[in-house]
Amino acid sequence: MSLQGRNALVTGGSRGIGRAICLELARQGANVAVNYAGNAQAAEETAAACRELGVQAVTIRADVADAAACEAMVKEVISSFGSLHILVNNAGITRDNLALSISEADFDAVLDTNLKGAFCCCKAAYRPMMRQRYGRIINMSSVVGLRGNAGQANYSASKAGLIGLTKSLAKELAARKVTVNAVAPGFIDTDMTAVLPEAAKEALLKTIPMARLGQPEDVARAVAFFAADETAYVTGQVLCVDGGMAV
Ligand code: NAP
Repeated sequence: MSLQGRNALVTGGSRGIGRAICLELARQGANVAVNYAGNAQAAEETAAACRELGVQAVTIRADVADAAACEAMVKEVISSFGSLHILVNNAGITRDNLALSISEADFDAVLDTNLKGAFCCCKAAYRPMMRQRYGRIINMSSVVGLRGNAGQANYSASKAGLIGLTKSLAKELAARKVTVNAVAPGFIDTDMTAVLPEAAKEALLKTIPMARLGQPEDVARAVAFFAADETAYVTGQVLCVDGGMAV
């Protein structure tokens, strides 16, 4: 499969899963805009690695929880590359706690970044993709958005919300040849999971039939599947990349 000549924006592309997505899309020939929140050095390293693969790459600092920043970011990508074909809403945060102890601020921060952020980027890309009669939107959900998780009520709600967003937009945009799909990773080896206590990791490993963590590249390949021209007839779907966790 080739993404030659396609232009992509990956939110939270500086590190972890987002970085692997940027590299996979670049490896397949897409130009990549690497969005990040604060880690400029990581974003620049990702962009440089993409350029080494022979594509154009830019970095864009923007907080996806800020609607105006999302709008400006999509405009910037279109002015840099000429168009936007692939939008990957990957930026995400956790603020884990038992529901009883989740503050209003921590609930809002997770929903604003993970769910509203994706909505705002989709909204900004909506008209340009509709007009060009082509688009691929891929939202980063999670297995916990399907199954729930004790200690992650805010995060699980945001990831479940992304599935509703995905299916609704898939229906709105299908006639314009824009597909909208979601990837639901299980337990992936990134900075996000590195902070978990060893005991929590051991317990999580027992819930994975493949008995290992996934790698960011495992998720990136699923994103590239949805980004391909060849999957034009696939929309509104949620693909688990989880070593069997959600089965
Ligand atoms: P990570 O290593 O913590 O990286 C998070 C990325 O999101 C960074 O690039 C960060 O930018 C960016 N980001 C955070 N807040 C942002 C904001 N407000 N605006 C723009 N960018 C922002 O996380 P990860 O593990 O790669 O996770 C990536 C996505 O996969 C998330 O949506 C996460 O919920 C989802 N996911 C992860 C797992 C897992 O096991 N790791 C499982 C299921 C789903 P900076 O570098 O600038 O901070």
